[in-house]
Amino acid sequence: MTSSAIREILKITQRPEVISFAGGLPAPELFPIEEIKNAADRVLTDHGPAALQYSTTEGHLPLRNWIAERSRISPDMVQITSGSQQGLDLLGRVLIDPGDVVLVESPTYLGALQAFAPYAPRFVEVATDDDGIVPEALDDQLAGLDAKLLYTIPTFQNPTGRTLPLARREALLEITRRRGVTIIEDGPYNELRFRGGEVETIFELARRDSSPDELNVIMLGTFSKVLAPGLRDAWVQGPRHVIDKLVQAKQAADLHSPTLNQMIITELLDDVLTNQIKIIREAYGQRAAIMIDAVARKLPEGVTCTNPEGGMFCWVTLPDETIDTEPMLAEAVDRNVAYVPGRPFYATGARSNTLRLSYVTSTEEQIRTGIDALGAVIADRLSR
Ligand code: PMP
Repeated sequence: MTSSAIREILKITQRPEVISFAGGLPAPELFPIEEIKNAADRVLTDHGPAALQYSTTEGHLPLRNWIAERSRISPDMVQITSGSQQGLDLLGRVLIDPGDVVLVESPTYLGALQAFAPYAPRFVEVATDDDGIVPEALDDQLAGLDAKLLYTIPTFQNPTGRTLPLARREALLEITRRRGVTIIEDGPYNELRFRGGEVETIFELARRDSSPDELNVIMLGTFSKVLAPGLRDAWVQGPRHVIDKLVQAKQAADLHSPTLNQMIITELLDDVLTNQIKIIREAYGQRAAIMIDAVARKLPEGVTCTNPEGGMFCWVTLPDETIDTEPMLAEAVDRNVAYVPGRPFYATGARSNTLRLSYVTSTEEQIRTGIDALGAVIADRLSR
């Protein structure tokens, strides 16, 4: 968990004068409110009682069918969850025994560390560089390690914005198959590419030459970043023996995800969803370009920043490893700008001279003013 000190400081960032790059939220002005209103109306008019009744644990079949078709798998390989966050929790419950080695990127999604932690795994960080996980390093590491799971966000990673190139995905698959490791591929940002060419998911690569029962990749997808996170609708797709166990865990956890929400989303598939993805990609692409430009001009020399091809975040590393961005946050907030310090995103070997910026909930002017202020804070810190 993030320290309470950070939480206290981040509360201050709610003040209107503070430009916050700290959020992890999608841009709310892009939510398809009218379309959701109309879809809810149609669902309640056409299927009122069924929409409000208990329903199957696996999820609304038309929705599972759509997900399955997209990935060319059968619907019994898809479990609907209440957000990917629940998917992570249920996977932890089903797959992790105390002491099991779970490999994670360095840094990785804090929420996954939190979701897995109660099942008492031993987290081991995998070496990463500017392109994500380094396959050769992983292979070397696995020689001396009985690892069970590899949790990865290969596309527009949270927190770094990095994307793992195709050749590395293939290498990862080969290595994990040979070493008997299961990959959990988390893909909430997969659809949010605003530049560069599509890269196949690890799941897709694995599916092509594995039978449904031999697959060693489990993938999570979500409607949070492409429709609205408040709907809490997402899914896990994977080999049947894992999905069968997930169904049992899901039933014990909450019986099923909200029927009404699943039906509303089913109404929005294809037309509205396709259009939303286009709108979001364009808006996020513009905002990212402004931030990357501002960062290049205004952050002091030696500071590096990732240059994402999609998603919501970029990741800044300060040249002096002794700088701690946690106490520096208070200085930033004094200058009316906020970010998330990097430390909580590391499972073990934290690098304190890092921070995460979200570019999606700020205007051009806010991005320029905020990065200016951040540049001054960092310059000041480096000069001490
Ligand atoms: N995984 C990653 C990598 C995320 O960034 C997020 C959202 N911050 C989630 C999972 C959870 O998404 P949700 O529960 O809204 O589907």
